[in-house]
Amino acid sequence: MLYKSTRGYSEKFSFSDAVLTGIAPDGGLFVPEEFPTLNEAALEKLCELDYCSLAREIFSLFADDFTKEELDTCVKNAYADGSFPEEPTPLSVLSNNLSVLELWHGPTSAFKDMALQILPEFMSVAIKKSKKHNKIAILTATSGDTGKAALAGFKDAENVNIMVFYPVSGVSEMQKTQMITQEGSNLSVVAVRGNFDDAQTGVKNIFGDKEFAEVLKERGYTLSSANSINIGRLLPQVVYYFYAYLALVRNGRLTLGDKINFAVPTGNFGNILACYYATKIGLPVNKIICATNDNNVVSDFITTGIYNSKRPFILTVSPAMDILISSNLERLLFDVSGENTEIVSGLQQDLKANGVYSVEKEMTDAINEYFWSSYSTQPECCKTINSIHSEFNYLVDPHTAVGIDVYDKYVISTGDTTPTVAVSTASPFKFNKTVAEALYGEASTEGKSEFEILDELSEKTGWEIPVPLRDLDKKSILHKGVCDVSDMKAEVDAFLK
Ligand SMILES: *Cc1c(COP(=O)(O)O)cnc(C)c1O
Repeated sequence: MLYKSTRGYSEKFSFSDAVLTGIAPDGGLFVPEEFPTLNEAALEKLCELDYCSLAREIFSLFADDFTKEELDTCVKNAYADGSFPEEPTPLSVLSNNLSVLELWHGPTSAFKDMALQILPEFMSVAIKKSKKHNKIAILTATSGDTGKAALAGFKDAENVNIMVFYPVSGVSEMQKTQMITQEGSNLSVVAVRGNFDDAQTGVKNIFGDKEFAEVLKERGYTLSSANSINIGRLLPQVVYYFYAYLALVRNGRLTLGDKINFAVPTGNFGNILACYYATKIGLPVNKIICATNDNNVVSDFITTGIYNSKRPFILTVSPAMDILISSNLERLLFDVSGENTEIVSGLQQDLKANGVYSVEKEMTDAINEYFWSSYSTQPECCKTINSIHSEFNYLVDPHTAVGIDVYDKYVISTGDTTPTVAVSTASPFKFNKTVAEALYGEASTEGKSEFEILDELSEKTGWEIPVPLRDLDKKSILHKGVCDVSDMKAEVDAFLK
C-alpha cells in the first residue's frame, strides 16, 4: 500500500516514509492509494479479537511495509505496557440507544493518547526501514493537551527526540504541571515568553530554516512534527470505531451487519475522519454525527457547503475544539470530489488567500450522505453535563457533552432510533472546573485551585480521579527553562548537540 498527496504530487510514499515525512512535499496530506475493504465474513473474524489484536489486523491493511511481528510489537508497546487498562477503550452503555466509548484511559486522560502512544512506535520502526532518515527530532508548540500527550508518547522512544514549547501565558496550571514534571531521557520542555501564536510561529520559523535543517542533518537529525495530520496519527483512530461496534455485537446489542451512528466532538476533523475511513473500509455505519462548539465553521460547512473561517475565534469550555481551520477536512474533500486534486488544491488556495471556500452541490450532497452536523453552545454543553449526571449518574467532560448534545439535536430533528455510540474524548477530571460548575454551580469553585476542585469533584460524585491526574502537584519539577521567541532556535540547537 502506498500513500499519495491530496494535491497531486507525483511521487508515492511507503507507510514508513509517509509517517516520517508527515506532510507531502506539495503541502497536501497523505492518503491511501486505495482503500482495503472488509466484508461481513471478515468482520465476523475480527469480532473475537482483543484490542491489540484488532489493532494489529487493521494496521496490517495499511502498513504493509511492516511485518506482523513489527506491528505486534508496536501495538503491545503502545496499549499493553501498563499505560492503558486491560481494555483500553471501554464502552459504557447509558440506555438502549446510547453508549459512550471512553477514549481517555491513557497516560494523559484524553483521546490523543490513542494515537500518540503508538506514533513513536511506528516512527522507531520506520526509521530502521527508511533510506531517507536516521534520527528524528520532533518539535511541537502546544496550547496544552497535545504537548503532554506527545511527551508521554515519545518518552524514551528509540532514535527520536522531542522538544515541546508552551506559552508562559496560555496553558492551565494543571496542563503546565503535567508537562514540566514529565520524565524521560530524550525530551525537553521549554516555556516561551508570549502566547500560543508566538510559540507556534517560532516553531514554524525553525521548520522553514533551510540552513539550520542542513546543520541538523549533519548531526543525523530530520525535523518532524507529531501533529494530527500525520497518517500515523489517523490510522490508530480507525481501530476504536471497529472495537466499539464489535463490542456491541459481542454483548448482544447488535447483530453483525446492523448499522450504528457515531457522535464525534470535532475540532481538527481527525477523530471523525477516522470514523469515515472505518465506514469506507466496511464498518456498518448509518450516520456520523459531527458535533462542534460555538466555533462552528465545520458544522456550517457540512450544512451549507460554504467554509468560512473569517469569524471571531471564541474561547469556550471545550478548548480542544476551539479551532477555525480544520486541517483534516482536506482528506474528506479529496474523497468526496472523486479524488480530484485540482479541486482540492483550488479550495486550499481559496482558504489560504481569503479564509473562505465553497464547494459544488454534488460534494455537499455526498458529504451529507454520511454526515449530519450541528453545534452546541456553552450553556447547552454545561446543561448536558448536568442532565447526563442526573439521568444516568455518569460524568462527561465538556467535549463529550458537546457530542451528546448534538446527538440529542439529531434525534429531535430526524427521529432516528439507530443505536448510537458517543465518543468520549477526555476524562471529566481533566476539565474539572467546568464539570464542577455545571453540576454544583459557579459559586462551588470560587477561590479554589484546580487541584482542590479535582479532589472535591471526586468526593462529591464518588468517581475516582484517574491515576495520571492524581497527586500531580506533589511531583518534582524537571523542566524549568524559559526563553524568548527569538531564542527558540538556540534552545533546539543546544538540545540536539
Ligand atoms: C483534540 C480533541 C478533540 C478534537 O479532535 P479532532 O481530531 O481535532 O477533531 C476533542 N476533544 C478533545 C478532548 C481533544 O483533545
